[in-house]
Amino acid sequence: MTLARADILRWLTVPDAEPLFAKARAVRARTKGRGVCLRGLVELASVCDRDCLYCGMRHANTAARRYAMRDDEIVACARLAGDLRFGTVVLQAGECPALWTRERVAVLIRRIRAETGQHITLSLGERSEADTAAWREAGAERYLLRFETTDRALFAHIHPGAPRDGEHPRLAQLRRMKAQGYAIGAGMMLGLPGQTLASVADDLLTLRDLRADMVGLGPYLRHPGTPLGQETTPSEVPVSVDFTCRCYALARLLLPNANIPSTTALSTLDPRHGRLRGLNAGANVFMPNLTPAAYRDGYQIYPDKICVIAPQADSLDTLHADLASLGLHHFQDQ
Ligand code: SAH
Repeated sequence: MTLARADILRWLTVPDAEPLFAKARAVRARTKGRGVCLRGLVELASVCDRDCLYCGMRHANTAARRYAMRDDEIVACARLAGDLRFGTVVLQAGECPALWTRERVAVLIRRIRAETGQHITLSLGERSEADTAAWREAGAERYLLRFETTDRALFAHIHPGAPRDGEHPRLAQLRRMKAQGYAIGAGMMLGLPGQTLASVADDLLTLRDLRADMVGLGPYLRHPGTPLGQETTPSEVPVSVDFTCRCYALARLLLPNANIPSTTALSTLDPRHGRLRGLNAGANVFMPNLTPAAYRDGYQIYPDKICVIAPQADSLDTLHADLASLGLHHFQDQ
């Protein structure tokens, strides 16, 4: 669909975005029908070497609780995803290459493929070309890496040590992984201090230029234990369910076939209606958290991260009822 930058900016700011949401639903109905994919999110470890200014897992946050799952526990989560007929597990972690070595992750991927048949999406942050090649070879098919913002000065500000010029490091990795045969997932946070609406329009156009297969975007939520959580610089970009939904809808128009999750951060903003409003704006994926209960509250990228559903049958029933209320249903991806 041709959608010019000016159109994007208009949709980001018009008083009523319902016509945009309706267009996005129509495109989703054409490309995805009524099916919503469920993908099991497993948060492997809260240990992180990095000091991203926004993230509660940053290395310097000594108040953060740190944990790391064992391989057997991770495989058990993948098995649970199979029992729940999810089809895919998303393995996400803080960045710690010493813990998640190339070899260990490759072995884990092979085990999950062989023992559970689940498809694997990795979200292990910035890694070398050789690492991601080995994991693709081992059987991982998708990789999620948000570029967070295409505004280079803002990206450098919130990622200590990141280069201010040259190619955006995360965009560079996403392009490399596309060439390696991954389905790539990219996206940004919305409402970062100093973020502009124009840069969000550029972020959306960048998703199209990347030919992103998946889109991961959500509101930025302040964590008081981080430097960015203390910053008072205003943002042109609202932290709201409505604004996030506008971005889902625009992403759907720009990338009709993309898999777009209604994210946990959206449900944190509005626990009862967040995920439904995301689906109502063109999202088609939901990622229930399958991290074992004993670890869950250790993965505090932002405060009060709600575990939208526990894997117990009763909360899955609520999810199914929510989908049915929108005329949608659980679609098991193969
Ligand atoms: N280390 C991995 C996974 C990080 S957590 C990586 O960097 O890819 C996954 C996503 O959570 C990040 O990409 C970021 O967009 C989001 N996130 C981190 N801190 C956040 C915060 N305070 N508010 C909202 N989203 C946040």
